[in-house]
Amino acid sequence: MDCLQAWLTVNNKFLGVEWHFWKVVGWLGNVIFFSRFFVQWWATEKRKQVVVPNSFWWLSLIGSLLLLAYGLRRRDSVFIFAYAFTWIPYIRNLIISYRTRRSELHCSSCSAACAPHSLFCAQCGLKLKLA
Ligand SMILES: [Zn+2]
Repeated sequence: MDCLQAWLTVNNKFLGVEWHFWKVVGWLGNVIFFSRFFVQWWATEKRKQVVVPNSFWWLSLIGSLLLLAYGLRRRDSVFIFAYAFTWIPYIRNLIISYRTRRSELHCSSCSAACAPHSLFCAQCGLKLKLA
């Protein structure tokens, strides 16, 4: 245990980092932002096709806002510029995704969700009724 503690602690700092509130905010932003790649990769491997799930955009949004807050606090122009505008496409992608999901047609036979404006169910071939 002492060996592990010594290994994790450098100059009495955990992982050699001077920890304080804004450092936690910045590292939390890093972890959340970085985790989106694994979420997207997992979704793609699961479906065996390239998929960008909504959780990817949520992690992007939350992570980048935390990193922007950290950059603003640090008055670091590189961080601020890197994350000042990225929330725009993240929010836009979420809006489009939720609108698309809301306008999906549901098959009355197999209850599959079908693309908006589709005439037939992609699962069972039933002719879909337009609402
Ligand atoms: Zn169907």
